[in-house]
Amino acid sequence: MSLPRHFDQGAPVAVLTAQPLGGTLDYLAPEGGCAAGDFVEVPLGPRRVLGVVWGPGEGGFDPGKARAIARVLDLAPMRPEMRDFLARAAAYTLTPLPAMLRLATRAPGLTDPPGARHVYRPGTAVPARLTDARARVLGVLRDHGGMGFGLRDLCDLAGVSAGVVKGLAAQGALIEQAAPRDAPYPRLDPDLPAKALTGDQREAAAALCEGVRAGGYGTTLLRGVTGSGKTEVYLEAVAECLRKGRQALVLLPEIALTAEFLARVEARFGTRPAEWHSGVGMAERRRVWKMAGQGGVQMVVGARSALFLPFRDLGLIVVDEEHDGSYKQEEGVLYHARDMGVLRASLAGARVVLASATPSLESWANAEAGKYARLDLPARFGAAAMPELAAIDLRAEAVPAGRWISPTLRRAVAGRLEAGEQAMLFLNRRGYAPVTVCRACGHQIGCEQCDARMVEHRFQNRLVCHQCGESAPVPMACPSCGVEGRLAPVGPGVERLAEEAAALFPEARIAVLSSDLFASARALKEQIAGIAAGGADIIIGTQLVAKGHNFPLLTLVGVIDADLGLQGSDLRAAERTFQLMHQVAGRAGRAERPGRALLQTHQPEHPVIRAILAGDEEGFWRAEARERQAAGVPPYGRMAGIILSSPDMKAAFDLGGWLARHAGPLRAAGAEVFGPAPAPIARIRGRHRVRLLVKAPKGAALQAALSDWLAPVKLPARMRLAVDIDPQSFY
Ligand code: ADP
Ligand code: ZN
Repeated sequence: MSLPRHFDQGAPVAVLTAQPLGGTLDYLAPEGGCAAGDFVEVPLGPRRVLGVVWGPGEGGFDPGKARAIARVLDLAPMRPEMRDFLARAAAYTLTPLPAMLRLATRAPGLTDPPGARHVYRPGTAVPARLTDARARVLGVLRDHGGMGFGLRDLCDLAGVSAGVVKGLAAQGALIEQAAPRDAPYPRLDPDLPAKALTGDQREAAAALCEGVRAGGYGTTLLRGVTGSGKTEVYLEAVAECLRKGRQALVLLPEIALTAEFLARVEARFGTRPAEWHSGVGMAERRRVWKMAGQGGVQMVVGARSALFLPFRDLGLIVVDEEHDGSYKQEEGVLYHARDMGVLRASLAGARVVLASATPSLESWANAEAGKYARLDLPARFGAAAMPELAAIDLRAEAVPAGRWISPTLRRAVAGRLEAGEQAMLFLNRRGYAPVTVCRACGHQIGCEQCDARMVEHRFQNRLVCHQCGESAPVPMACPSCGVEGRLAPVGPGVERLAEEAAALFPEARIAVLSSDLFASARALKEQIAGIAAGGADIIIGTQLVAKGHNFPLLTLVGVIDADLGLQGSDLRAAERTFQLMHQVAGRAGRAERPGRALLQTHQPEHPVIRAILAGDEEGFWRAEARERQAAGVPPYGRMAGIILSSPDMKAAFDLGGWLARHAGPLRAAGAEVFGPAPAPIARIRGRHRVRLLVKAPKGAALQAALSDWLAPVKLPARMRLAVDIDPQSFY
């Protein structure tokens, strides 16, 4: 893009705002002029909104009518490479540009004049009456070392109304001050002593550092079993990036992981990096955003949306656990943070490190094809060996009805408890029982709004819909036949498994880790730290436990149902099961004690189960790659999902049918369309969902064809149409 850099006062300029208006709007440059990339405030109807000067305006309108940009904001201008990135990401995901800008400006108070914010700090006076609410406010400030908070953040953190804070201020127990401008973060020191790396680690680190030093774009897949030191290795690449004076971004899949990670960064570089995720307070978000643009932050650790921060000079993006499904944003703008990370790096001249024990087939194939470099860490660090893996053939075990722990698994758990070690039972199902059935009429209780069964959650004593979150008390009588006392749970969830474990091991301390059982990320972190320190004997968990947490005393993992993920028609079912089982098994034996993983299965001869047991990873990827290649599906072909949703099922099918019949632009590009069909989850929150699937050869211009195809569509009232490029989940 070559754009005039400066627009004189009164010149027409195109301004992109985050308002859903389609494209840019024309304004007149303000007094003093403005330049492409400037963040500005513009009048829009009765309001003033944030915008970015995108380029020259169309001109040709009546200059008397056009409105002028209100002012240029005191923010680092958006860099050309960031504008390119937003435009390319918008084109790739078929998202309107304003929605992309919204992602890139998700920090509050960007239009506030500097110093206009006020914060509260502890005062000297003691409040007259220390109510609970007041104590919480003072507690929050104490916990944060006397740091100041804006009114909103303080109220949110303490769970109190504004009146409570203002009351404390009136008494002098809090003082209100003008906030200092956002301050740069403390400097990280890349030259503090690192751990002495092993030979393999040193080679891998040297290769990554070499890339960072050379500058320019490049992506490396860093593959290594859990505990092989991938984190140690990529932190050296971060160090090299910091030495060059460039910024580093590390993406992690789960907030719960960051506590341990932050401590490791601090140990390596002397201070903590900045954080960016949903748990970060408003004032801090603004600070990270601004410092990214001004170069006042060297390293950001964050969730996928950190990719849209306005880094001044991004030199390295690490995507840890790159195969993790949570990198795909499934609501709003449907983008994959790994893929967008590679795009951003290619535009910024940055390096990418994709780290995983079990890479996505996409990344594996890119490495095979030579598009990505690949580094392998073959062994676990130190004395830790890979866990020994074995199947428990459920066809040969006598497991009573309503029980899920086989005699073999039970003996293995008992053995570990006697040795004073920990055992984990893994079941990827939240709640008590996935199905509640009426023994009188056979009716299964479903959600009224969704095509989903209600899941019993016994701790809460409610039935919950895992699609829409709707919940209801467990009824006494069957909602269908009205007979009382015959409703029964069918199948296991982690809560029910905990009940069984408690009956089998009455002496054991049992901890259940499931995302719905924790009120906050902090509560979860505390629980995990407690368990790691030996606070439980048996850990029962959903996939939450599969990710990265280090439990040094854990030496046995029992997978209750290894077949669970293999059911269903999802093209990634095998890959996901392989990754999840590998990851879960990898929890065992991280310290000096050897670990063991037992997989309960009804199909020990299934190729995926066999590959897991044999530890034959390359064999698995190769076989999986062959199948996908033969079917022409990702990563060897391209796909897009179209979801039409409406309260009116017929309208959704009618439009779907029309689209299928008018697929000329798709066929011209060599693509095929399948459907319309009811989506696998055919109704969510009262909206019927109809799906079309588009399949195209690898090189096809899929986005252009989709745009042409969908251009004539006029959406009827209450109908929504979402395009999902490279769909990850097929719901
Ligand atoms: P991964 O990211 O591959 O799971 P980590 O980097 O977390 O592996 O390493 C696993 C454990 O081994 C961590 O506690 C880490 O500090 C330790 N470790 C790895 N390599 C070394 C090393 N060279 N020296 C000391 N400790 C190491
Ligand atoms: Zn529901």
